[in-house]
Amino acid sequence: MRKYSIFAVAREAMRGHKGWDKQWTSPEPKKEYDVIIVGAGGHGLGTAYYLAKEHGITNIAVIEKGWLGGGNTGRNTTIIRSNYLYDESAGLYNHALNLWEGLSQDLNYNVMYSARGVMMLSHNVHDVQGAKRHIHANRLNGVDNEWMTPEQAKAFCPPLNISQTARYPVMGAALQRRGGVARHDAVAWGYARGAADRGVHVIQNCEVTGVRRGADGAVEGVDTTRGFIGARKVGVVAAGHTSVIMEMAGVRMPLESFPLQALVSEPVKPIFPCVVMSNTVHAYISQSDKGELVIGAGTDQYTSYSQTGGLHILSHTLDAICEMFPIFNRMKMLRSWGGIVDVTPDRSPIVGKTPVPGLFVNCGWGTGGFKATPGSAHVFAHTIARDEPHRINAGFTLDRFRSGRLIDEAAAAAVAH
Ligand SMILES: Cc1cc2nc3c(=O)[nH]c(=O)nc-3n(C[C@H](O)[C@H](O)[C@H](O)COP(=O)(O)OP(=O)(O)OC[C@H]3O[C@@H](n4cnc5c(N)ncnc54)[C@H](O)[C@@H]3O)c2cc1C
Repeated sequence: MRKYSIFAVAREAMRGHKGWDKQWTSPEPKKEYDVIIVGAGGHGLGTAYYLAKEHGITNIAVIEKGWLGGGNTGRNTTIIRSNYLYDESAGLYNHALNLWEGLSQDLNYNVMYSARGVMMLSHNVHDVQGAKRHIHANRLNGVDNEWMTPEQAKAFCPPLNISQTARYPVMGAALQRRGGVARHDAVAWGYARGAADRGVHVIQNCEVTGVRRGADGAVEGVDTTRGFIGARKVGVVAAGHTSVIMEMAGVRMPLESFPLQALVSEPVKPIFPCVVMSNTVHAYISQSDKGELVIGAGTDQYTSYSQTGGLHILSHTLDAICEMFPIFNRMKMLRSWGGIVDVTPDRSPIVGKTPVPGLFVNCGWGTGGFKATPGSAHVFAHTIARDEPHRINAGFTLDRFRSGRLIDEAAAAAVAH
């Protein structure tokens, strides 16, 4: 596949952009592959990319029931950060952050990673103590995070309301400067292009309807809407539908699936220089390069497989946004949408082997897996290729819900993003 460069853009500009290659092909599925990945989101496509690039395994199919990137990867608010409390989480998310920084060059695809800083607000004494605890723990783990007074927070993000008469006054903030955003679609497209270029088959509009196991219990392949496809190794990376697919293999997962919504405003001139999150009033906001304010809400209270959520959740989120940023009171919202997130009891992901030989799972990213995409895909590829976890995902086992060795980001953050 031809390299993207300024010279290629100039050359194609001269000939009406007729010479670009297809970014990926749409091959007919073969009867058998070495590895099947179920789910063409960022994590699944990234896994195929690293399997091919770093482990020399190229006989791979990524099977997607819809279109690639059409799941949570193309629906999220793109916040990237690594300031999680526990050592295991800091290791995994920081591994991802390190990869984000060089991802556009690695993929030869502009994923528009923008380290504009993620500021997490504290609104009460409990928040302040929690944020400072995170900052200390993060620094011990080599993760950048710093405390800001309300005035410093306002200087960093001028639209922020720091009036102490607000219902939830800003009492300070934790800032991770290396945090930021990236273009979600480009991440899926870049990984798909890089994987396809190495021989991976990305098969869209093909739903997995069953997981076949042999007499010895090991995986033999998957039934799909386009017939049976064999493989000795199958990686399930299907976000909100993970428990459905794992059930097909006879594995019950400690997961609940919830709708999670986001919305964008009409586009305006650049006004919002960073990402701001508030776990207490539950809203987060940044500005896209198109000028839209990108706003994220919390999950619905009930489980569901519908990609929509309750209106009251959005209305609550906008109340919070207007209180923190009164300047946006009269903005018009353009559109809203939902995704289905899979949530574990400790709000940390499961990345590793399963009790079924040859079956691997990468799931449970809940409301915050986009930021982990390169790191998660990288260590999951290692796990599939070598049949053992990378040291970075060693703790993120399915077995921890039996053994009790939880990575309890749920208790650490009250929510996990
Ligand atoms: C509204 C919203 C906002 C979010 N905001 C953020 C954020 O700011 N920062 C952050 O870090 N994270 C965020 N997230 C979470 C993040 O989007 C996800 O954790 C991440 O994208 C998951 O990626 P994935 O590749 O695992 O899943 P997905 O992108 O969902 O991919 C899974 C794929 O599996 C496919 N699939 C399912 N069942 C089958 C089947 N039977 N056969 C074949 N294919 C199947 C689906 O169609 C889907 O394409 C947000 C999520 C939502 C919904």
